[in-house]
Amino acid sequence: MMNSVKTCKLCGDTFRTKHPDTITVCGKKHTVICVICGTEFIASEYSDTKTCSRSCRGKYVVKSGIQNNINKARMQDPSKFDNFVEFKSDPAKYILDNFGTSRPNTYTLSKNIGIDIAIVCNYVNKVNAQKSCHIL
Ligand SMILES: [Zn+2]
Ligand SMILES: [Zn+2]
Repeated sequence: MMNSVKTCKLCGDTFRTKHPDTITVCGKKHTVICVICGTEFIASEYSDTKTCSRSCRGKYVVKSGIQNNINKARMQDPSKFDNFVEFKSDPAKYILDNFGTSRPNTYTLSKNIGIDIAIVCNYVNKVNAQKSCHIL
């Protein structure tokens, strides 16, 4: 396959890639400023991440509303949307705030947040919050 020439989204250098549709930054290390907390961090290679950590990433997703629309429609109980948004932004903190250290299971969480157990598990796994709850 032919390499395509692309311009790096972060530093503006041109580089070659076999995957022009998915790769948008060059392979150099870039210092980036987190859009949520302002911390400077080194972006990993070939990544145009905008946030420094998983917890900032969660906040960014909520703030940018990327997933809100998709998931509100899929909620079992849309009246619990605020709980869900809070949970989504930081599952471990949400669990601690609402259940203390009692480690609820994902069924209890799914009732509390009004979403499917599978989606609860998704978020828990995504941020490695498995220690905060029991996955059923
Ligand atoms: Zn670059
Ligand atoms: Zn940050």
